[in-house]
Amino acid sequence: MSGDITDAENRLRLIRQHFLAPQGAGLRADRGTRATEPGAAMRLDVYDHMTATVDETVALAATLCDEQEPYEKPPTRQVEHVYQWLVDETPHLDEERQQVRDALIYRHGLEHAILIGESDIIRRHPCPECVTWGLAWDRHAERVVCWNRHCADGDGQPTTWTLAQLAKDHIARKSRRAIRAT
Ligand SMILES: [Zn+2]
Repeated sequence: MSGDITDAENRLRLIRQHFLAPQGAGLRADRGTRATEPGAAMRLDVYDHMTATVDETVALAATLCDEQEPYEKPPTRQVEHVYQWLVDETPHLDEERQQVRDALIYRHGLEHAILIGESDIIRRHPCPECVTWGLAWDRHAERVVCWNRHCADGDGQPTTWTLAQLAKDHIARKSRRAIRAT
C-alpha cells in the first residue's frame, strides 16, 4: 500500500510544483485576471484537477468515517499530503472499505500520471477481463482500451475500462496476492 501512496503523492507534488510555483502567487491569483494569456487555460485545468483531487479525497474520508469530524484538518498548501492524511484518518477500516480507500489513491495516481504525460503507465496493468498486456490509454475518449482482439465483443469493438475500474482491479489483485502469500 505504501508504494501506491508514495506514487500518488510524488506525482501530485510534481503537478503542484511544476505548474504552480513558476507563476509566483500561484493559480488562485491568475483566475479571471489573466485568462487570455497562453497557457492560462491549461493552468486552470490543473488547478481544477488539484481541487477535485483534494475534494474527492476529503469526501471519501467523511464517508468512510460515517461523517465524523476529521481528527486533523486536510492539508491546504502541500496538497499531496492528502493521501497520508486520508490513511491517518481511517486507521481501522474493514477489508472492503480499505479497498475502496486504496483504489481511490491508486486511481488518483493514474490520473496524475496521465496529466503529467506518463500515460504509458496504463500498459503496466493486465486487462481486468482477458488478463493480457494489451491495454492502452485513449486520450481522446479518456478511457482505457484493451487491444487484444480475443477480448473484443461480438461486434469486434474493443473492451474499454475507466480508470476507476482499472484501479479497483489492481487493488483487488494485490489483496488476493497478499492473502496467498500468508
Ligand atoms: Zn482484454
